[in-house]
Amino acid sequence: MGKKILVTGGAGFLGSHLCERLLNEGNEVVCLDNYFTGQKSNVVHLLDHPYFELVRHDVTMPFFIEVDEIYNLACPASPIHYQYNPIKTMKTSVMGAVNMLGLAKRIKAKILQASTSEVYGDPQIHPQTENYWGHVNPIGERACYDEGKRAAETLFVNYHKQNNVKIKIIRIFNTYGPRMHPNDGRVVSNFIVQALKGQDITVYGDGSQTRSFCYYSDLLDGMVKLMNTGDDFTGPVNVGNPNEFTILQLAEKVIELCGSDSKIVRKPLPSDDPMQRQPDISLAKSKLGWEPKVQLEEGLVKTIEYFRTIVK
Ligand code: NAD
Ligand code: UDP
Repeated sequence: MGKKILVTGGAGFLGSHLCERLLNEGNEVVCLDNYFTGQKSNVVHLLDHPYFELVRHDVTMPFFIEVDEIYNLACPASPIHYQYNPIKTMKTSVMGAVNMLGLAKRIKAKILQASTSEVYGDPQIHPQTENYWGHVNPIGERACYDEGKRAAETLFVNYHKQNNVKIKIIRIFNTYGPRMHPNDGRVVSNFIVQALKGQDITVYGDGSQTRSFCYYSDLLDGMVKLMNTGDDFTGPVNVGNPNEFTILQLAEKVIELCGSDSKIVRKPLPSDDPMQRQPDISLAKSKLGWEPKVQLEEGLVKTIEYFRTIVK
């Protein structure tokens, strides 16, 4: 028998794929979610699996269970959703980390934190390496997410130092793929849904800001590899695809691949929107033997195929 694993945020985009993957690898999986941005439909196909369990729970409240590993993914990830209730977002990151770390300490489980490239804020060095401390506005629109995730990293590191909890911190860069919610609000899903519906493609600002997009299967390879490294390697480690694109290039690519006649329109750039973002993945290469395999066009084609089945 494999391991018994808890996935918080398991009904979300990445969490649901992670649950599926861990089950396929012969583990027993408990998926915990409060369904804020995730949905039961993401995991409904797993409900008949004898080693899958679904629990409605909010990570801001303590939770008790016996498991070998915890993947802590619970947290809204899209700016429109994490800004909807910023106090709750910060509570989810901070109290969620305290509750899950307390659990890991008590039951001696290994615990992985889904951190983010947002800990670098609007970065002043490029590409971003793990030893860069970041450039975050602590009172801006994105702070509830960025500072929540930064505080969670601090908690992880200190539970490790003070209580010998076995921790892993992954800094995830923009990841996309099937099962993103059509109203998620992040750029890849927004553009694909708009292109498939023939609606205007909403580019915020002049579209010169950059992101580096990682396909979900690559990201999960990196995440699982990190969990399986020796206890002395805690991270943080960047996992993302270093191929960088402007948002305008992404819009044009999506229009082309969807065969759409949508027009690009400009909307105001949200405040504190990072101007450029690209992971330095040297550490992931050397410590995890990991690098991404799926490049943007291939990943977009698969994601568009998925959205064609749900967008009417
Ligand atoms: P998502 O919004 O699809 O998934 C988040 C899940 O957490 C949802 O199912 C949601 O219902 C659940 N959740 C939120 N608050 C909760 C709470 N208080 N208690 C229990 N469950 C709660 O987003 P995702 O893209 O799958 O992101 C998963 C994790 O990865 C998040 O922690 C996110 O910050 C991190 N991350 C993702 C990306 C990305 O590009 N996808 C980038 C950086 C970091
Ligand atoms: N963006 C955009 N149009 C949209 C959604 C997002 O131009 O409809 C831009 C957004 O301003 C940002 C980039 O795309 O510069 C990535 O946004 P997303 O919300 O996906 O992620 P994040 O900003 O957290 O990296």
